[in-house]
Amino acid sequence: MPSKADIRALKRIAESKDVGAALAAYLSRFKGLKARSPSAHAAKKKQKRLSRKGAVAAVRPLVVDRANGHCECGCGVPFGVGNTDYSADWDEFYGRKRVSVQETWMLSRRHHLLKTQNWPYRAYWDEKFKAHCAKYGYPFRPRLVKGAVVAQPPKERGVTNG
Ligand SMILES: [Zn+2]
Repeated sequence: MPSKADIRALKRIAESKDVGAALAAYLSRFKGLKARSPSAHAAKKKQKRLSRKGAVAAVRPLVVDRANGHCECGCGVPFGVGNTDYSADWDEFYGRKRVSVQETWMLSRRHHLLKTQNWPYRAYWDEKFKAHCAKYGYPFRPRLVKGAVVAQPPKERGVTNG
């Protein structure tokens, strides 16, 4: 996208008596400037995609094993077969950028949907995940809330809340 300044310059060039000379003068400003390679950007994006794919491939089976066929929200409902309310969904608790065994869990489709929709409220699912983390000795932090300052819980090791 040309900037507003570029568009103004191009208009001046279009209205000038010697368009060719004006254009040459304008273009001379860019001599020595390297255009940003779009392929470098695409390659970086692709690398990101591949590294996520690799992380998911490595992490997800471990989480499936841990869940052992049951919703990990604490309800303990066994997963059903097929695309139902009770089929197993993998949830990245803190979002797609946080892919680890400690930051993801398996939920029934129904509970995954409720979590995604913050039903009955957002902190409810933070509490569920906190209890899940405590069960396995994982570190927990509440999810960030836009525009709110969330206090970090004190670091406790080996303490479970039952
Ligand atoms: Zn559940």
